[in-house]
Amino acid sequence: MFSVEDDVRDLLDKALCSEPLSLRDGIKLFESDVQLTGIVADCLRKRSAGDLVTFVIDRNINYTNICISGCRFCAFYRSSKADDAYVLTIEELLKKVAEAVKLGATQVLLQGGHHPELPFEYYENMLCSMSEKFPRVQRHAFSPSEIAHIAKISGSSIKETLKRLIDAGLQSIPGGGAEILDDKIRKKISPKKIDWKGWRKVMVTAHSLGMPTTATMVYGLTEGYKERVRHLLRIREIQEKTHGFTAFIPWSFQPGNTALAKKYNIACSSGIEYLKVVAVSRILLNGAIRNIQASWVTQGERIAQIALSYGANDFGGTMIEENVVRAAGADSQYLPPDEIVRLIKNAGRPAAQRDTLYRILKRY
Ligand code: SF4
Repeated sequence: MFSVEDDVRDLLDKALCSEPLSLRDGIKLFESDVQLTGIVADCLRKRSAGDLVTFVIDRNINYTNICISGCRFCAFYRSSKADDAYVLTIEELLKKVAEAVKLGATQVLLQGGHHPELPFEYYENMLCSMSEKFPRVQRHAFSPSEIAHIAKISGSSIKETLKRLIDAGLQSIPGGGAEILDDKIRKKISPKKIDWKGWRKVMVTAHSLGMPTTATMVYGLTEGYKERVRHLLRIREIQEKTHGFTAFIPWSFQPGNTALAKKYNIACSSGIEYLKVVAVSRILLNGAIRNIQASWVTQGERIAQIALSYGANDFGGTMIEENVVRAAGADSQYLPPDEIVRLIKNAGRPAAQRDTLYRILKRY
């Protein structure tokens, strides 16, 4: 039996009664026994999302690695003069989409560095050419910091930028670039990126234009529990106003080859810490965001399986290609759909393929 302090028991009771939890409650949850928090998170997952575990067949395409942002946690970016700096041509992009389609992909995520010179038309052409050639593949593209960057270099407002991108074929936005929504941490890890209100502005504007997005959190970036909980509560607050987030995706900082890890001597965070983050996310976002993704890409297949009993209800994507976390040492490779189904079923759960908007395409 667990020995449970009265105040932890009270706040877990509050969570099970779907009462809102405070910053203090959230911190207490992070300090509590992970198994106990996991049991409550699993119960809330079952209530709000059921037993079915979903996944999407997808490919990430990083259209350029040239970036002027220089985030200290990133091992992917290059200066435009680097030998391995690149910008994909539209032909190269379409070739990658065609490969993904052959493997059954229904979603392509476009994400790249903050290139100092690419004109607005480059982004529009990517979307237009994809929608012409592969109209059935979801164009899930450009995190809020890229959208803010495109707006800045083109001298447009966030709203005008989003409208132009939507006209060109943008269908949904990934929640990357959130890292930790706390400006003290952001100044330390990515001083040239938008602040947390800038991230919120892009999301709220996108939601007001009817555009669905996901929300993310990267933890282990020198923040404490307080900043993590504040991040979750900020996501919750946005969702209560807009209802535009389809899912929440937390993952741990991948320290390999990064300036941040060298400066602060940061090692990979543990599987237990990951399970705690998933469980607390499910509890704090209960009633607001239905889908919580397990990240096999950063945690490995086995921890991702366990996360399904700690509040996650989605296995993410097949990731036909992923370059950003791999550059920082994540040992991830493409997982074919059959393998994902096997992993989900071995975790004792039914599996289904979904689309970007979490509509079921095929049950296994
Ligand atoms: S995380 Fe994105 S914005 Fe930051 S340096 Fe890397 S590519 Fe650039």
